Amino acid sequence: MGRVLFFLVLAAVVWIAYKSWARKRDGDQPPRVPKGAPGNLNTNEKEAIYPCKHCGAYSPLSSGVMVEGRFYCGLAHAKAEGEKVQ
Ligand SMILES: [Zn+2]
Repeated sequence: MGRVLFFLVLAAVVWIAYKSWARKRDGDQPPRVPKGAPGNLNTNEKEAIYPCKHCGAYSPLSSGVMVEGRFYCGLAHAKAEGEKVQ
């Protein structure tokens, strides 16, 4: 009987610890999600700047074109490098 009680208490402790951890994790999430959210890009604070693969000019990601990991400052330079872009 004592052993059953021990496992019941153990299960309760594990459950409470898990719930507390999950709540803490969920509580931390909301501030993290908006950072990477697209709606936050217009703050222009920490926008990534990439060099154009064609001319080497550095441009913010939002003003250039990213094709399969290769960045171009504009559609013209993406096409100049043979990318299939519209
Ligand atoms: Zn370019």
